[in-house]
Order: sequence, then C-alpha cells, then structure tokens
Amino acid sequence: MATAILRLWPEAQFASGPPVENGFYYDVELGHRISPEDFGNIEAEMKKEIKANHLFERMTVTREQAMKDAQSGRLGALAERPGNPSKFKLGNLADIPEGEEITYFRNGDFIDLCAGPHVMRTGNIGAFKLTTVASAYYKGDEKNPQLQRIYGTAFKNKTEMEAYFKMVEEAKKRDHRKIGQEMHLFAMDTEYVGPGLPLWLPKGGAILEELEKLAKETEFAAGYVRVKTPHIAKEKMYLTSGHLPVLYKDSMFPPMELREEGEGQAFINELKRALDDAMQTAIRELGLRTEDLVKGEDFSVEKQGEVIRTRIGQQSDEKRRWIEQIARDKFTTDVFLASFKEPERYYLKAMNCPHHHRIFAAEPRSYRDLPLRLAEYGCNYRYEQSGELFGLMRVRSLNMNDAHIYCAPEQFAEEFNAVNEMYLKYFKIFGIEKHVMRFSTHDPAKLGQKFVNEPALWVQTENMVREVLKSSGINYVEVPNEAAFYGPKIDVQVWSVIGREFTLATNQVDFAVPARFGLVYRDRDNVDKTPLCIHRAPLGTHERFIGFLIEHYAGNFPLWLAPDQVRLLTIGDDPKLIDYARPILAELRAHQVRAEADFSADKINGKVLRAEEARVHTMLVIGPRDMEASQVSVRLHGKGHQGAKAKGEVIAGLLQAIKERRA
Ligand SMILES: [Zn+2]
Repeated sequence: MATAILRLWPEAQFASGPPVENGFYYDVELGHRISPEDFGNIEAEMKKEIKANHLFERMTVTREQAMKDAQSGRLGALAERPGNPSKFKLGNLADIPEGEEITYFRNGDFIDLCAGPHVMRTGNIGAFKLTTVASAYYKGDEKNPQLQRIYGTAFKNKTEMEAYFKMVEEAKKRDHRKIGQEMHLFAMDTEYVGPGLPLWLPKGGAILEELEKLAKETEFAAGYVRVKTPHIAKEKMYLTSGHLPVLYKDSMFPPMELREEGEGQAFINELKRALDDAMQTAIRELGLRTEDLVKGEDFSVEKQGEVIRTRIGQQSDEKRRWIEQIARDKFTTDVFLASFKEPERYYLKAMNCPHHHRIFAAEPRSYRDLPLRLAEYGCNYRYEQSGELFGLMRVRSLNMNDAHIYCAPEQFAEEFNAVNEMYLKYFKIFGIEKHVMRFSTHDPAKLGQKFVNEPALWVQTENMVREVLKSSGINYVEVPNEAAFYGPKIDVQVWSVIGREFTLATNQVDFAVPARFGLVYRDRDNVDKTPLCIHRAPLGTHERFIGFLIEHYAGNFPLWLAPDQVRLLTIGDDPKLIDYARPILAELRAHQVRAEADFSADKINGKVLRAEEARVHTMLVIGPRDMEASQVSVRLHGKGHQGAKAKGEVIAGLLQAIKERRA
C-alpha cells in the first residue's frame, strides 16, 4: 500500500504500519486529505505491485546506515528524497534500543524500516481491500503531528475475503449490545451505578440463572463442592498472593481504608471528606486541576509543585491567605490521622483464588481430602480503563464460573483431563464446533523475572499438561513465553456460529501460590506437602459468555436458555378459553417453565407478532377448536406453525426438551 501511495504522492511521509487482525494499517503524513474516493486509485496501484510479484527481502543494517538512509529520505520511500528526510523513521529508530538488530524490508523500489515478518512475495496477497481512513497522532501522542491512518484487509484469496466481509456484516446484526437492548437483557447505568457495571434485567437474569444451574449440576456430578466467599479482603491477602504491590495493582480498584471502629471511623470519614471538598473548591478556583497544569509532559512532584506555587503566587492576597489556611488545616488533619492506628486496607477482589486458598488453609488437610474441588460463582471487580470498556465483553464487575482444584502431583493428569472433558461437554451443549486450546509455556531465559524461578517445577508441570493434551486428542497449539507468572496457562478460544473468534476462558496450573500461602496436606508418609492448584472457569464470566451466546444464537436461544420460553395466546378473550388455558399455564409454571399468557382481546395476528418480536421460543395458540379437542396449537419462534397436539403431550415434550437442554 505504501508503494502505491508513493506512486501517487511521492512526498508522503510514513510513520508506523503494523499488521492487525485480518489486515493492516499505515500512518501517513500527506498534504492531500485521503478519502474513500481515493481508495480505487490506490488499490489499482497496489494491484500492479502484486502483479509484479516482488520479493519481500529482509536486510540487516547498522544503526549508522539506517540513520543515513533516514536523513536522505530513503526510508519508507521508493528512492532518495533530498531535502525531505524520513522524519518519522528517525523517531522510530531512536526507539530501537541500543544493541538491538535493525532490519529493513524491501519490495521492489520500496525500502522500509521493519521488524517483519512478511509474506514471501507481493503476489502471495490474493485479495485485499482498503476499508477506512482515520486520524491518529504520531506515537499516539497529541503533541505530535496528526497523521492519516489508512486501514485495509488482506486475504489469501477472494473467497476468504468475501467470507470475511459477510461475517463482519452478520456480526453487526448480531451485536450483543443491540440484541441485549431489544430483548431487555441488561442495562448500563453509568450515572448511578458506574461504567462497566452491567445491571442484569429479569430476562438477562433468567439466562444467567440457567447457566449457573448448568454449571452447578455439572460440577456437582464431577465431585466439586461449593463455597461462598466475601467480595473484599485485606491487603495482606494480595501481598501474599503476589497480586500486590505491583503485578495486578492497575487492575484492582483502589483500597478502602479503615482506621477505627464505629464512631471513630465515622468522625475520620467526615473530617477527611470536609477537607477534601474544601481542597477541591480551592483547586477549582485557582485553576489547578491536572488538565489546567502541565499536560502529559512532566508529572514529577517538583515540576508540578513549581507550577502550583507560581499559580498561587499570582492570586490576590485574600485568596492566597484562604488557600494557605486550607493547607494548614490539611496538614493538621494529616498529623491527627497519623496519630490513629495504621489504616487497614481492604480491596475488592479481582479474583477468587486467594479466598479459596484461605478455605483450604481453614482446616488441617490430609491426602484423604484430595483432590479438593472448590467451586464458586464469585463476583470479581477489575478496574479496566474506561476507554477499554465494551458492552458485556469488557466490564468492571465479573461473575465468574470459578473453581480451584487442589491435588497431589500424582492426581494431576486425571484432574486436568476431567477439566478438559468438562469444556468439551459444554461446547457440545452450546453447539460450539470450532475451538482450540492455546497452551502457553515459559521461557527458561526469563526465570526469576517474567516467570517464577522454579525451573524443575516448570518443566514437570508443562510436561504433565502436554501429556494430557496429547493423549486426549484435544485441538491445541503451544505458545512459548506466554505462560502466567505462576505456571503454564491455557486460553480457550472458541468461534461463534458465524466464525468470529472469542477467548472465553483461561485454565491455569499454579505451582507457586499455594506455597506462598503455606498450604499443605499431610501425605501418607506423614510428611507435609504442598498441593498443586488448577484454576479453571470453563464458562468464563457470565458477562462475556452471554455476550458470546447472544452473537452465537443471534438472540434466538434454545428453549432451555430462552428468557421467554412459552407464551399462551388465546384467540380472543372468551372467558371459557381463558379458563381452559389457565391450568396449562399453572402446570408449566409449577414445573419452573418461564411461561406467560396473553389473554387480551387483541387480534391473534397481533399477539403472535408481539411474541415473535420478543423472541418467545414456543407459542401455544388456543382457539375454540383446540379447547374442544383438549389440544393446543404449537408455533415456534422463526419457524412458524407446527400443528395442533394434545395438551398433555405438548407439556411433557416441553419439560423433556428443557431437561435435556436440547439445542
Ligand atoms: Zn484462580
């Protein structure tokens, strides 16, 4: 694409252009404002390049050579451009650490600074399309020049490209936010509840309950026991687990501080709050908010302090005295607070494992207690950046289908295999046909930094996991250097029915944290040993999984999962018909079926239309003839009329389909 743009606009300056999912983008500075009308011309030039079938050549150069080429305008260009140095490439070069290899890629006349990899030849690109143009700052910093970001997609062939655009189109129609709203599944109330904290409405709550029921039944049958733990814990918990002070700090909500019991704490809260409010007023009055101060430049206390002092110095005497008084009060309060006990910090839990570890530690354990499988639908809170929040897919409160399995090393293979089988069982129920397990392992060179320094345990557990994956015939790929700090990790990726990929769940082996918590069991030989821990959550979180299911089913959930399972529709509102329908409704509800009735005087066509719009799974239409024959007429959402059947048979059929969780 860069070559094509340079043929049209030789002065173009390129910045960065990494590959992204299903395609690429390139940031370019250009006097001409590129619009979708230019795409045709650019694509025509690109076709010529592809036809020429240039080789992508990789070259290693010295830093001096690269600097020289950037100065002469040769980088990100077709030829040297005297007086027009490759300025962004100079900036990119400065970011490559000293000692690291510098590589070029060359195709035809075009030479670029690039780490690669690339396809072998331009001719290997079978099909491509430019999609959008947006604006972006160089290196993402608004102080830098604004560039034009041109996006495109590339595929092996035309068929693949067409399938991709069809999938994107279909995914738009199945957008979980759109369908979630149509079906009244969940609501976001950023004003009162907060961003990323979904409220589950009754219809969404019904799906959630069904998923929990499925998980609880499955786990019970597999020998799990259920526990319940609080939503918060002391700081000590996360210092011990290693999530604090650094590793997970940015993903946790800031702590709550408690100093005193009862009235003492209430007094402290009041005092702090009053002073904070006064401070806020002062800051506003003086224009001292961060956004009014140094913008993104230097956040050091010295630099900021300098600006603040200058700003205060510019105020009137009266205002200066006022702010100095607040500062004195603040200092006095801080000293006063410091004279109390050390604050006790509590954190909202971002994961359930530490709580479960404490349950393991709550009683002495022997080898007879193992494997111990502790399950909980635990609610976790993660402080995702507000810009990252996305519908149900990226949220701040997560209901996790969690469990931790504590086992002896000799039990590991069987336990781990059983977990995998559970994943497969779920995939079958939900009709997930394409799935892969990404098995992330450690890099021995990074022991003690990225990975806990237990070389023998790494090798041992990774071998165990690999064995199980191989012998179970499960579809998996191995990815080096991406394990978690505490052990090898398996990310489970699934594809929805329209072919979109989701990472649903993570399955993790942990051989380090149980030891940090001092967890032991008394083994047969009377020696205390540390158990292994398997973290697993096959259904991931309610939020993400339901988001996935909405797209997967396009909102047309199978009977067992449908928020509206059955609706009885009488033809007219004749009291005799209603009397006939009522016991049917009562019987369904007595069997926990989510059944409702529309006994209104509206025309039957209108009633059916309303039920279809609400995606009611099964409609039971009842007219005088049905009543006389002790029948109901069955209609399925999106599938139309199924004929009249004896009412007893219909009820039994519905109950059976729900019980079997039929697709
Ligand atoms: Zn866990």
